[in-house]
Amino acid sequence: MADYTQQLREGVAWLRFRPAIEAEFRRSHLIRVRAQARFWQVFQIVVGLIASNAVLRGGSAENHLPLLFACLAAHLLVSAVLTGLAFSSSYLGSYLRVAAVLTPLRATAFAIIVADLVDTAGSGTAAMTINMFGLMFFSGLLLRQAMPAAIAMIAAFLAALTAFEVPAPVAAYSVSSLLVVFGLSAFVAWDTQRASRIAFLEHGVTRSDASRDALTGLANRRHFDARLEAMWRIAGNKQARLAVMLVDVDHFKAYNDRYGHQAGDEALRAVARAIEAEAGRRVLAARFGGEEMALLAAGVTEHEAEALAGRIRRAVEALDIPHEGAPEIGRVTVSIGGACIVPLPERSASGALQLADQNLYAAKRQGRNRVVFHGEEYAHVQTGSFRHGAGQS
Ligand code: GH3
Ligand code: MG
Ligand code: MG
Repeated sequence: MADYTQQLREGVAWLRFRPAIEAEFRRSHLIRVRAQARFWQVFQIVVGLIASNAVLRGGSAENHLPLLFACLAAHLLVSAVLTGLAFSSSYLGSYLRVAAVLTPLRATAFAIIVADLVDTAGSGTAAMTINMFGLMFFSGLLLRQAMPAAIAMIAAFLAALTAFEVPAPVAAYSVSSLLVVFGLSAFVAWDTQRASRIAFLEHGVTRSDASRDALTGLANRRHFDARLEAMWRIAGNKQARLAVMLVDVDHFKAYNDRYGHQAGDEALRAVARAIEAEAGRRVLAARFGGEEMALLAAGVTEHEAEALAGRIRRAVEALDIPHEGAPEIGRVTVSIGGACIVPLPERSASGALQLADQNLYAAKRQGRNRVVFHGEEYAHVQTGSFRHGAGQS
C-alpha cells in the first residue's frame, strides 16, 4: 500500500510525489480531466482548420507560405494525434506523456501562425490568450508539463513578431499581455493542483486506514472479505486456482496469561511482520481476527501455496520468541490450514474458508506448529461444509 501519510509529511509544494504515488495521482487526474482534454483537443483541430482557411484565402505575406504550411501541418497533426489518444480507451494512459512532448511543438507552430496572420495587435493577443488559458486549464496537462509549452509559445511568438517585422510597440504590447496572462494562470494552476494533490493524499490515507488493521498493519478482515469475493469471481471466470490459508498462533491464550497482554500484542506484531515478509506483494495477508491471520493467493498451484505456508511456519518458529506455556517446543509457533481450489459455480468463497478452517483444526489436533493442506482431494467435494452457502450466518 502506498504511503500517503509519509508523502503528506514531505509536502506537495513542488507538485511532485514519489514515483509510485505520482503514477497513481496522474491516473486519477487523467480520469477527472478526460472530458475537458477531449474538448480542448477537438477545439484545436477546429482552430487549425480555421487558420488553414485563412492562409489559403491569402492572409499571409507570400514569402512566409512554406513556413506557414509547415506550421499548419504540425498543428493539425499534433491535434489529430492527441485527439485520438484522448478518445481512445486503450491508449488514454499515455495521453499525458505524449501531450507533454507534443504540446510545445504545437504551441510554437500556433504562435508563428498567429504572428503571421494577424495584423492588428488586439486580435493576435486575444488568440494567444485563449490558447494560453486552454493550455493551462483545459489541456489536462499538469502545470510542470504545461510550463515548457507556455514558454515555447511566448518565445516563438516574440521571435515570429520580430522576424515578420511587426512594429515594436505592437509586439511589446502583445508579448507583455501574454506574459501577464501566463503568470496569473500559472499561479492559479499551481494553487489548484496543490489543493487537489493534498485532497488526493488525504483521501488515500482515509482509504488505507479503513482497510488496515491498526495493531499489525496488515489488511483487516473487511478488506480481506471484499478481496476474497472479488478474486473468487475473477478466478471463477478464468477457471484459475485460488489459495486460502488461515494462520493461527498456537497456545496464545497461555502466552497472554504468562507474559501479559502487551507482550501478546508485541508477539502478534512480530508474527504479522514475518507473514508479510514471506507473503510478498502478490499474496494478500490480513488479520482475520484475534490471533488468526489469513492469506489469499491467486493463480498458484497447490504445491506453491503449501510451500508458502511452510515458509511462514518456519519463519515464525525462527523468530524464536520464548513461550514457556507451549508444551511442544517452548516457542511461539503457528498452525496453518489451507485450501487451494478452482471456484466452480456450486462452490462459495465462504465454503473455501470453511475448508481452510477445518484443515487448521486438523493441524491443531495433529500437534500444532504444522501445515495441513487439502486441495485436489476436495476437487469434487460439494457437500458438507463445502456446499454453497455453508459457513454463512
Ligand atoms: P490454540 O493453540 O488452540 O490456537 O490455542 P489458543 O490459546 O491460541 O486459542 P484460543 O482461541 O483459546 O485463544 C486465543 C487467544 O488470543 C485469546 C486472546 O486472549 C488472544 N488474543 C486475541 N486477540 C488478541 C490481541 O489482539 N492481543 C493479544 N495480546 N491477545 C489476543
Ligand atoms: Mg490460537
Ligand atoms: Mg484462534
